[in-house]
Amino acid sequence: MLDAPLKQNVQFKIGSRHRLGEILDDMGLSRAMVLTTAEQSNAAHEIASIIGGHAAGIYSRATMHTPVEVTRDAVAHAREINADCLIAVGGGSTIGLGKAITLNTALPQIAVPTTYAGSEATPILGQTENGIKTTLIDAKVRPTAVLYDSELVTSLPISMSVTSGLNAIAHAAEGLYAREATKATRELAVNGIRAFADGLPKVLQDPQNLQAREHTLRGAWACGAVLGTVGMALHHKLCHTLGGSFNLPHAETHAIILPHAIAFNEAVAKAELAPVAQIFGDIKAGTALWTFAKSLSAPMRLADIGLLETDLERAAQIATEKPYWNPRDITKDAILNILKQAWAGHPPELT
Ligand code: NAD
Repeated sequence: MLDAPLKQNVQFKIGSRHRLGEILDDMGLSRAMVLTTAEQSNAAHEIASIIGGHAAGIYSRATMHTPVEVTRDAVAHAREINADCLIAVGGGSTIGLGKAITLNTALPQIAVPTTYAGSEATPILGQTENGIKTTLIDAKVRPTAVLYDSELVTSLPISMSVTSGLNAIAHAAEGLYAREATKATRELAVNGIRAFADGLPKVLQDPQNLQAREHTLRGAWACGAVLGTVGMALHHKLCHTLGGSFNLPHAETHAIILPHAIAFNEAVAKAELAPVAQIFGDIKAGTALWTFAKSLSAPMRLADIGLLETDLERAAQIATEKPYWNPRDITKDAILNILKQAWAGHPPELT
């Protein structure tokens, strides 16, 4: 079992980024390297100006899937500017870079998440070298502190709010039938899913609604904590294959695969998944998730995000090459069937 995020200092407060200087003082830190992607460099500049003399520098080259060459460059930069900590402002890509730097330098990381991906709550790091993505689990890489400030999430485009929210729900849904699930992780999962079921439609209505944004951020933390505590199965493995071998975008892939993977496993995990159906007012978890995604105008077809029909057979082959635990036995034909449904955007088959 992965270890639970017990020692993490987690704060939710609108405008809490303005307290970052104080937080650094409390932690005895004074030279922060602020991390972001190129697209969010404005956010890094804002944080650097908030912490003033505590800012040692900005590094705005975080990239999806944490390429090791970016990490090497960032580690060299952190050493050059004599940073004593990292502030990662962004989604899973930026927090992933922070984790990778910490792995190499032991610098403490403060995460300021701006998506719902949930990486801040896990000891998991995925890295890419020579086009191959590998994943490691090390308690050291989990951020020391997490500051959720819903003002920073209002700029997350609607389409990404939806797919990122469904990505978070995927952690919790798979956590419900995990072998290591406990009463506590199930409660966390149910709370996380409920936060998105209530909050995401409100975010869509008004992306500037800070209460709805905070509600969904609380959901992101809960779902991320589940991901960081119990093992995942078919859904995450399929998404890993589609992202790693076919370069499909992370959150969109999760959004599309989720109802199909859950419907497949529901045949043997009906009781475990019953809370999902109940939260969305349906009798089946898989169809409930499909209807919810459709109501939010989420992408529904792998065909629309770059997967060719001729790739389906190879994807099913890769996804079944290495055995892994799943509540229901996996065959190549079954995976191919799931992929065909998801490719065409059909409702999940209830088998
Ligand atoms: P991301 O971090 O790649 O962000 C996508 C884009 O949205 C980037 O350009 C980013 O700058 C921009 N963005 C983020 N927040 C924004 C905001 N509030 N306003 C405007 N733009 C914003 O996307 P993600 O889905 O959060 O993360 C995906 C990556 O995280 C993948 O590499 C995935 O493997 C990893 N991940 C890791 C874990 C883990 O536990 N290790 C968990 C989930 C995801």
